Amino acid sequence: MSTPTSRAPMLSTAEALATLLSAASPITGTESIPTLEALNRVLSEDVISPLDVPPMNTSSMDGYAICTEDLATADNRRLPVSQRIPAGHAPEPLKPGTAARIFTGATVPPGADAIVMQEQTEAAGNEVTILHSPAPGEWITAQGADIRSGSIILPAGTRLTPQALGLAASVGCAELQVHRRVKVAVFFTGDELTMPGEPLKPGAIYNSNRFTLRGLLENLGCDVTDYGIVPDKLDATRATLREAAQAHDLILTCGGVSVGEEDHVKPAVEAEGRLSMWQIAMKPGKPLAFGAVRRAAQQSDAATSAETFFIGLPGNPVSSFATFLLFVRPFVLLLAGMRTVAPRALSLRADFTQKKADRRNEFLRARINAAGGLDLFPNQSSAVLTSTVWGDGLIDNPPNHAISVGETVRFIPFSELLN
Ligand code: AMP
Ligand code: MG
Repeated sequence: MSTPTSRAPMLSTAEALATLLSAASPITGTESIPTLEALNRVLSEDVISPLDVPPMNTSSMDGYAICTEDLATADNRRLPVSQRIPAGHAPEPLKPGTAARIFTGATVPPGADAIVMQEQTEAAGNEVTILHSPAPGEWITAQGADIRSGSIILPAGTRLTPQALGLAASVGCAELQVHRRVKVAVFFTGDELTMPGEPLKPGAIYNSNRFTLRGLLENLGCDVTDYGIVPDKLDATRATLREAAQAHDLILTCGGVSVGEEDHVKPAVEAEGRLSMWQIAMKPGKPLAFGAVRRAAQQSDAATSAETFFIGLPGNPVSSFATFLLFVRPFVLLLAGMRTVAPRALSLRADFTQKKADRRNEFLRARINAAGGLDLFPNQSSAVLTSTVWGDGLIDNPPNHAISVGETVRFIPFSELLN
């Protein structure tokens, strides 16, 4: 039974997100690691290029390097070939009135200001006839055209994608300064939970959320400690929280955050720290708990804070998935040192109708069809995990809003939410 005073306030998704994210700041602790091992880590310092890229003027064609002025004043367009420049070899200055044979990626010799591609020439013996009048700069990639020495190529807070690693390597960075990984402890409540591989007793279900949530955390580059299933008992829940608080930045739990008699997470966190229980006006996923668990004084490793953040997710599989993507993901990425964490949404056409929901912000599982519109998964129940595999994103449907065919809706692709 809940009385009006014990009932948590109903927050909009935007209010809940703003409150949650305002509490997050980058964890302390950085390390220098080899660039080859830095995939998905977050830079703690700007990467500044020590050189121009390309480091010299290079030819972007196989052909002949010439000086355009020589060509303008020559009586005929036949020039002696004075040198041959393959990629990776330093050239001599171009002798006036001559051409240099040159290949893609090779250094343009001083004195040359254009490349004539070989298709626009006729070679005969040691001479070449130029059949085209190039503009100065033609087929030359200028020194520094991509990157200028001294410029910031990757700012602090960047999550290192394969392309970012390539860019860092292109300026010769063998090591990168990154934030340490966010340490997350996770556990699951519910006496009905069984691990795959065990027989399913009457009344039991498989602990699917353990697989989903661990995968989500690992995709974000977290260092995960999994405490597994914790029985629906206050003492056991408190003991696990106390232990998990010691060496982690965040404790994430799943289930047991309602206010039923079997829901012990709320009183356990209140006893071990502090808690705000939020009813968020969203579907799926209503209850979300946010707070912190005290840390024993003497125990502290890289983390020096007196407490560990706590987030409690609802147990329904689609609810925990959606609340993770919308709330836990940006929170974890801010702890990890990123600065921009909002997913980019698309405006797409709805190829379906959806009747008006209630005052909750719905996150509907949908997928992009061949015509570029959106199809809706027919069963939007928060227990139907199938929708999360069938779909490729969430439609962010505002409260009290019906969707009609042809309407443009806000779609957040999973590709923006899973890493
Ligand atoms: P709760 O939030 O504990 O009230 O759980 C809500 C619903 O989600 C119940 O039907 C639970 O059986 C189910 N549930 C809770 N935890 C998990 C889990 N780890 N995996 C799958 N289903 C779960
Ligand atoms: Mg439960």
